[in-house]
Amino acid sequence: MKANEVLDNLKRRFPNEPEYHQAVAEVLGTIEEAYNEHPEFEKSNLIERLCIPDRIFSFRVTWTDDKGQVQTNMGYRIQHNNTIGPYKGGIRFHASVNQSILKFLAFEQTFKNSLTTLPMGGGKGGADFSPRGKSNAEIMRFCQAFVLELWRHIGPDTDVPAGDIGVGGREVAYMYGMYKKLARENTGTFTGKGIEFGGSLIRPEATGYGNVYFLLEMLKTRNIDIKGKVVAVSGSDNVAQYTVEKLIELGAKPVTMSDSDGYIYDPDGIDREKLDYIMELKNLYRGRIREYAEKYGCKYVEGARPWGEKCDIAMPSATQNELTGDDAKTLLANGCFAVSEGANMPSTPEAIDAFLEAKILYAPGKAANAGGVSVSGLEMTQNAMKLSWTREEVDEKLKGIMKSIHEQCVKYGTQDGGYVNYVKGANVAGFMKVIKGMMAQGIL
Ligand code: NDP
Repeated sequence: MKANEVLDNLKRRFPNEPEYHQAVAEVLGTIEEAYNEHPEFEKSNLIERLCIPDRIFSFRVTWTDDKGQVQTNMGYRIQHNNTIGPYKGGIRFHASVNQSILKFLAFEQTFKNSLTTLPMGGGKGGADFSPRGKSNAEIMRFCQAFVLELWRHIGPDTDVPAGDIGVGGREVAYMYGMYKKLARENTGTFTGKGIEFGGSLIRPEATGYGNVYFLLEMLKTRNIDIKGKVVAVSGSDNVAQYTVEKLIELGAKPVTMSDSDGYIYDPDGIDREKLDYIMELKNLYRGRIREYAEKYGCKYVEGARPWGEKCDIAMPSATQNELTGDDAKTLLANGCFAVSEGANMPSTPEAIDAFLEAKILYAPGKAANAGGVSVSGLEMTQNAMKLSWTREEVDEKLKGIMKSIHEQCVKYGTQDGGYVNYVKGANVAGFMKVIKGMMAQGIL
């Protein structure tokens, strides 16, 4: 297999899908050598079979807004690969959603889920619907209309969706309620559900906490203590909030948060009380991060991302391609020595190259943010067993999974001279498991 040829072929067959091409290019570039050690893979064309999703559902979602006007959106579910378990991956509601973005996310999800050690395949879904500015009733009607189309394709042993950008506990609950009504079963086909109806403790926290646990493992390899370290975080909703919460608990100093309008910089650090304010602002009032700057009298920069602020560690936790090559250079020039990704593919290829060249600790999202789907996997287990684990039990399991993902990255990513290339490690470890499973299961 020649990575370039495979990629060129995919670009020709699936044009105008830049995010999908970007995600595939990153993986192919790192697994070529390991793949080519197995000539038997080539004849079975495993590489194309793994890059192209098993199937894609796309559908119109029709709903009525509060003024009585009928609206339409496009909904999608990408079932990428179910070699090692049911398709699993979140639902994203955001105006930017299209097939390319969901294909990149479903592709990445397949390797991430493989790394978790739990039996989950990869999938992703969503709609080009923006929850911003919508009333609660509009959100509910949209979620119900979305599931009216989606429900036929999902189930506890076939495909188990969860949340992502624009889809939190409220949206999952609306979708799950509708799903149950249509499917007439109560087996927990969504994860990220409310605690009262089959959700798992620690699921809302899992992606952010998991990212910090992964960061701790990386810091340990260089004997660095997280206490007192200045951290730039982007985003200010689910993943970002719980990243900041864990950082505060461990004595680090988070100084930035952002949303799609701009970022705040608080040189005194975001403490517990300030984070409580952000959680209320964002989760209850659905406000904007600039209101933090107004309340606490700190800097707010409209239309920018926080990577120009001096920090030791960066944790991008908003969206894809939010950290460019120039941002990476600025971070490095300011002394940043670790980047751990809460978001999916937040760093551009140029930024990744800069981090690897500088040999800093750099964890790609598919390893560092796998805590979310891991606890989703634990939620599926609890639902199947019809019991609930305590907070402590789930947190311990989450720590164990993040440690094991780190070990796999070290095993497959350590280069001559000892530098751990976590991108290569995560890709090779995640990839080999799926591809060996595909080989064993025959031509499908
Ligand atoms: P949320 O919707 O809870 O938060 C997203 C945050 O990112 C918001 O602050 C949002 O600001 C900001 N944001 C979204 N789009 C953009 C944009 N185009 N430019 C700048 N800021 C933007 O989503 P999550 O916290 O769940 O997801 C954040 C990232 O983490 C995503 O990449 C997601 O795929 C990834 N992830 C999430 C997991 C989970 O368990 N939820 C699991 C693994 C990864 P605004 O409100 O202004 O839009």
